[in-house]
Amino acid sequence: MAGGPRIDIITLFPELLEPFLKGSVLGAALREGRVDVRVTDLRAYAPDRHRTVDDTPHGGGDGMVLKCEPTVAAIEAVRGPDGRVFALSPRGRVLDQALARELVSERQIVLVCGRYAGLDERILEETGAEELSIGDYVLSGGEAAALVVTEVVTRLVPGVLGNPTSPQRDSFSGGLLEHPLYTRPRVFRGREVPEVLLSGNHAEIERLRRKQSLRLTFERRPDLLERAELCEEDRRFLRELKHERD
Ligand code: SAH
Repeated sequence: MAGGPRIDIITLFPELLEPFLKGSVLGAALREGRVDVRVTDLRAYAPDRHRTVDDTPHGGGDGMVLKCEPTVAAIEAVRGPDGRVFALSPRGRVLDQALARELVSERQIVLVCGRYAGLDERILEETGAEELSIGDYVLSGGEAAALVVTEVVTRLVPGVLGNPTSPQRDSFSGGLLEHPLYTRPRVFRGREVPEVLLSGNHAEIERLRRKQSLRLTFERRPDLLERAELCEEDRRFLRELKHERD
């Protein structure tokens, strides 16, 4: 049984998505039936003989606009009764780990990839699609964004990652950036692994890692600290860091 939502991706370029979906963690999860991701070719829903999917913008302007008829038909064909539809768009709500956790408990998510100048506005109105962005920059199409959403969501499905505790440990899960990681060898070009990590003392290891996470977050993303889950010891350490800085 697949866990997590069924994910449908509607695109003019299915061939861009397939190699990525087949590879690595996601590919294995698909083959094992742990997740259900389907790609739909938007062009198959073009009603005319020429398979037209785009047209020039009313009112003028650069680029072509994806047309209502094929796009709405494709969405209506794949959307189930509980499907939540998203149009990838730089105007949308920006994806973050909290939204990913929300999406993993949906029944179905439909991701519509824009191309060219974007979608006819009436597609959004007619289908109630929410706009979803992966960050404040502009891609040439929604495909890379749809893959980002798919990977971020599916790795939260239980059983997709080998180790069930790793999604909890990742950056952002507790609201902090992840601590540095080390593997063998113990010394590389004179750079040593922190002694504590070799001590086998789990409480000490956790304490070091927590401090490293706090320090990195304090230095690079202080905005995250406002929403992070912090204990009294964390707050004390942050006060020390502030003191060091000032
Ligand atoms: N003219 C549009 C951008 C079009 S880019 C605007 O200024 O808002 C073409 C397509 O790429 C978009 O329709 C969207 O599907 C995708 N895209 C571009 N940047 C994106 C982003 N940051 N997040 C998600 N999708 C994006």
